[in-house]
Amino acid sequence: MMPLKISPYLSEDKIKARVKEMAKQINEDYKGEELLAVCVLKGSFIFYSDLTRQLDGNILCEFLAVSSYSGMTSSGEVKISLDLAKPIEGKNILLIEDIVDTGLTMNFLKTLIEARKPKSIKTAVLLHKPEAAKIKTELDYVGFTIANDFVVGYGLDYQGYYRNLPYIGQIQSLN
Ligand code: 5GP
Repeated sequence: MMPLKISPYLSEDKIKARVKEMAKQINEDYKGEELLAVCVLKGSFIFYSDLTRQLDGNILCEFLAVSSYSGMTSSGEVKISLDLAKPIEGKNILLIEDIVDTGLTMNFLKTLIEARKPKSIKTAVLLHKPEAAKIKTELDYVGFTIANDFVVGYGLDYQGYYRNLPYIGQIQSLN
């Protein structure tokens, strides 16, 4: 792919500070209780790594993958491409997502997790686009509320690229 121009949206420092605040809040709420942190691949892998490294108590790490966008529009269809490796019954679940856009993915995941009878379920998302909501989703920890812009970096991709950017940006030529 031809390299595209990326304009800054959220800086590395800003993200770092906010993730720290989110971890502090989560630590206070769970007070050292065991937590099973679920990473929703691929987009949340960087946010997940930064957040979980600041969590106290006993933390179990599990991963699942869902199909998402191809390009810049949502297919509206959610599919599990990698399921959790273990049963989660009786566990405190923290679902960690990169971004909530239409809300369809988060809604699908919450329903799926709830059916497996966890002790509790909460959600931590780095970015929330309320204007794009197609379904109402209750979120527990939100990093930043953003406009209905397509963003890349810090785990988020455009056609598979830009996930490794340490900051969040917008593709200039697409605006
Ligand atoms: P939703 O189901 O809420 O519409 O979207 C869920 C998924 O769409 C996210 O986990 C993410 O992979 C992708 N997505 C939504 N908005 C954006 C965006 O602005 N940039 C990128 N790169 N992916 C997005």
